[in-house]
Amino acid sequence: MWSPGGKCPILCAMASQAQVIDGKALAEKIRRETGDLLARARAEGRVVRVAVVSATDDAAARMYVARQCADFAAAGIEALVRELPGAATEAEVVAAVEGLNRDGEVTGIVLALPLPDGIDVRRVQERIRPAKDIEGVHPRNLGLTALGRLRAGPSTAQAVIEAIDATGIDVRGKEAVIVGRSQIVGKPVALMLIERRATVTVCHTATRDLAGHARRAEILVAAAGRPEIITGDMVREGAVVIDVGINRVTLPDGTRRTVGDVRFEAARARASWITPVPGGVGPVTVAVLLRSAVSAALEAER
Ligand code: NDP
Repeated sequence: MWSPGGKCPILCAMASQAQVIDGKALAEKIRRETGDLLARARAEGRVVRVAVVSATDDAAARMYVARQCADFAAAGIEALVRELPGAATEAEVVAAVEGLNRDGEVTGIVLALPLPDGIDVRRVQERIRPAKDIEGVHPRNLGLTALGRLRAGPSTAQAVIEAIDATGIDVRGKEAVIVGRSQIVGKPVALMLIERRATVTVCHTATRDLAGHARRAEILVAAAGRPEIITGDMVREGAVVIDVGINRVTLPDGTRRTVGDVRFEAARARASWITPVPGGVGPVTVAVLLRSAVSAALEAER
């Protein structure tokens, strides 16, 4: 397994199998950075407190929120849940968000998804105060991403860039192909790579020749949420492959497994670098969110 600060990317690119980008090791590096930022925040006497707004009765979704709070706590960041029932209305969720916007003791807000049926997620996200939007989902922060502010954007998109950067490759001038155009992954990743002067193509369900585009990619980011849609023959020799997908599938023997959007072993035989699923972009995304939480507290007006 590759780890940050490890082998030279050029030598690795010559190997017959791709180097695996170790998301856990990369996440560890970001957590250390976060620890340093937290020490600075404390030295400045700043509050670092995240509130997770959750509106669900679903046990699994509540457990996910509890896990997220545990992640914050493990990093030394105070986290609380503003819990609403699964029958909450949009006005109630917005009121909760606005209360937290006004609360000077809360420096970061996370909006747990899914929200109850009938609630417009984007409309609620727009009500989060941009300075407290640590997930990078407010239109202002997406706008800042378009203007080149990497760390304003969504955590997953930042994690993709972290994973690419960890390989040491120079993005400038590279053919980058992104599969998926969602607001939290595909679009912001495209903007971030354009900022670095990659030549970017974004594919989606209306793309006519996905395989043809993918085969040109020196950097291939798969974020479609379709199990193993990227097969080995779609990967260019020596490409950097970043797999964002998290798909639960049932195998013929009835067991359940998590797979990415990329057929890992086949892609690994052709790529120079590749992220695994699980253990790739996922843990990096969590670490990026922690870092964003502390950065928001450091930048908060006093
Ligand atoms: P969305 O469903 O919002 O977007 C999926 C995108 O992929 C859409 O733009 C869609 O196109 C495109 N797409 C779907 N099927 C195809 C296809 N057959 N060919 C080409 N394009 C296709 O998903 P998200 O962006 O939210 O998430 C993507 C994946 O990443 C999911 O598996 C999700 O679980 C995972 N994820 C992982 C995270 C992590 O931390 N690792 C965090 C967030 C998400 P169109 O726009 O035309 O519909």
